[in-house]
Amino acid sequence: MLVTLSSVLQKAKRGHYAVGAFNVNNLEMIQAIMAAAEAEKSPVIISTSEGAIEYAGMDELGTLVHLAAERSKRPVVFHLDHGKDVKLVERAIKSGWYTSVMFDGSSLPFKENIKTTKRLVEMAHKKNISVEAELGAIAGMEDFVSVEARDAHFTNPEQAVEFIAKTGCDALAIAIGTSHGAYKFKEASALDFKRLQAIRKLINIPLVLHGASGIPANVKKICIDHGCKIEDAKGVSDAHIRKAVSLGINKINIDSDLRIAFDAGVRRFLAENPEVIDPRKILGPAKDLITLVVRQKMNMFGSRGKG
Ligand SMILES: [Zn+2]
Repeated sequence: MLVTLSSVLQKAKRGHYAVGAFNVNNLEMIQAIMAAAEAEKSPVIISTSEGAIEYAGMDELGTLVHLAAERSKRPVVFHLDHGKDVKLVERAIKSGWYTSVMFDGSSLPFKENIKTTKRLVEMAHKKNISVEAELGAIAGMEDFVSVEARDAHFTNPEQAVEFIAKTGCDALAIAIGTSHGAYKFKEASALDFKRLQAIRKLINIPLVLHGASGIPANVKKICIDHGCKIEDAKGVSDAHIRKAVSLGINKINIDSDLRIAFDAGVRRFLAENPEVIDPRKILGPAKDLITLVVRQKMNMFGSRGKG
């Protein structure tokens, strides 16, 4: 069933676990993620980025996710990820598809971010749609050499309090050292847990961790063994994800891990079955690998059995 982000995350906050938000671009990814949610009896957030909407269409993805959600007993949130373009967020709110939208005003001056987020929250709440907002620049620890530079770019706890009070947003994406993409760290995984604790202490709404893929070694190996050049890819360690959940993260965004699972499935199948031209057979193993990765995340985040 389709539900709002707020309902799923408030429950997660009370239960001290996190719900995965998985990015989709096509039918196969939606099917694979829903199969994982069924197997783990887990709530699930299905996210579409601006790029996914450009690739597959908002109505097309909306139709597929609504069908999947209606057929399932699991709580399913349909979420717009990283709406940087105000027009796109407004379009998503008006479309009738989404039960949650993210407005990413993190690159705007603080006051501008507040003003625009507040306006979109009012618009979305009239339609019972949740809003995730972002404060701070989501970039890796290594992007900032000094502690001062991190302070300037990572989420400031006091600012977060003011931001939430003035915007009324339902969830907040914070910057504590994760980054988007498959190359998050040169050395070991590292996050600013002190900052997370400080933010959690001061604010009372669910917190979101973006750029949280782990680049699992087994899936990465399948990719590399079959010609994919991602030797240097590195994600957030499982231990650090578990710690982030224990310190109060309630939504975790996963995109890169699904991409490498898809890539691994397709590459391996084609290498082992060069005579096959049937897209159903080529994409089947990719779906299975995505389901496997998503199930593992649901277990790690603690959402298993919660939906
Ligand atoms: Zn993100």
